[in-house]
Amino acid sequence: MRPQTEQLEEGWPAPVEENTATAPEKSRQPSAHDLEVLSRQLGRPVRDVVEIPARCVCGNPLVAATAPRLSNGTPFPTTFYLTHPVITSAVSRLEAAGLMNDMNERLSADEPLAAAYRAAHEDYLGARAAIGERSGIGAVPEIDGISAGGMPTRVKCLHVLVGHSLAAGPGVNPLGDEAIAGISEWWTPDRCYCDGAWDTAGEAPSKDLSRHGPQGRPEIVGRPAPVRKTASADGAGA
Ligand SMILES: [Zn+2]
Repeated sequence: MRPQTEQLEEGWPAPVEENTATAPEKSRQPSAHDLEVLSRQLGRPVRDVVEIPARCVCGNPLVAATAPRLSNGTPFPTTFYLTHPVITSAVSRLEAAGLMNDMNERLSADEPLAAAYRAAHEDYLGARAAIGERSGIGAVPEIDGISAGGMPTRVKCLHVLVGHSLAAGPGVNPLGDEAIAGISEWWTPDRCYCDGAWDTAGEAPSKDLSRHGPQGRPEIVGRPAPVRKTASADGAGA
């Protein structure tokens, strides 16, 4: 078996460029098709999505960027929302296996890691400010200094960290990167896992029947990730 981290680094696509003049499937600008795919991925209509900061190699969205202020005026700190059902399910498995507890313990004992995580928090705030700027929303002072996922000192939601890592590219959020490496038996950035990952038949959801729970709630993650074939010791988690 190939070393998974090596495979990850060479296969990880660059974050989506800000230049919206490129092909639509590579643009940050959400197309009508992107919004439909997002609503199918999540099983509910999406609102206030202003950019697609990470895409599958096939062009489908992996992460949606939500405006820092919703159209109803509500400040919204969670900018990067992981939408791809294969990834959300796989990340839920890491959470269920207790990886967040382990990360929190390491954050309190490993100062270089803690410093890198604080830097990730700063990156998140900067990226959100830039998105607010580009989308014409501007500053949202109510959420100054507030990022998401437990940053800068805790890990409360791995989906948030993975969404940030996919949006920012490798080397920005150490714990998001670690979680991405940890799901490599179910999802890797170099391949398309979209086929069959969400319902493509019938009309896309247009009525919001779900609660907008925190990122990664089981009721919105779609089909479960494939079961591990072996209980080998080289996998993620315990
Ligand atoms: Zn794909």
